[in-house]
Amino acid sequence: MPLAAATTRAAGNVEVRPSSIEGLGLFARRDFRAGERIRCVNVVREVTPERPLRPEAGERWDHCDYPDGRVVLIGFPDRHLNHSCDPNAYVVYEAEQSWLTARRDIPAGAEITCDYHINITGGTAWPCHCGAPRCRGSLTGDFFRLPLAVQREYRPLLADWFVRRYAARLQGRALEADRQEAGS
Ligand SMILES: [Zn+2]
Repeated sequence: MPLAAATTRAAGNVEVRPSSIEGLGLFARRDFRAGERIRCVNVVREVTPERPLRPEAGERWDHCDYPDGRVVLIGFPDRHLNHSCDPNAYVVYEAEQSWLTARRDIPAGAEITCDYHINITGGTAWPCHCGAPRCRGSLTGDFFRLPLAVQREYRPLLADWFVRRYAARLQGRALEADRQEAGS
């Protein structure tokens, strides 16, 4: 079997194959329009003290998402979604489901990416190799440590639960960004 076929796994509208960003990535199998739902994120289960991650079964912390104070384990293929400092997609959270959604038009064959700083604070830092012209060079794991201009750009992408939990901090940052803009 050719290498490409051996390392590509299709899943509906998307496929998983080697990425220039890191390891395996999620790639579009067709064109998506800005605002279009790409797929429903595959949530395996909630991780709780009673049902912790099982490393022996390949369950990893970096495959988890943290909606509204909960920890959920993300399954194939969505766990392969890579970070970009200039993402073409984001996640829309609903009561029971979340949807990977195109932030701009995505052509078939392009890697689908999210910015890991949206809807998170207090995460861990590591170097970024996303390759975007505006790459920030590192991830902080914290929305509030993004440059203010980027925070403002991402504001419409934030989940309702994140806005609710951090309303005071978001309000403070909005004022700060306005002041910077007024002063420049
Ligand atoms: Zn980057």
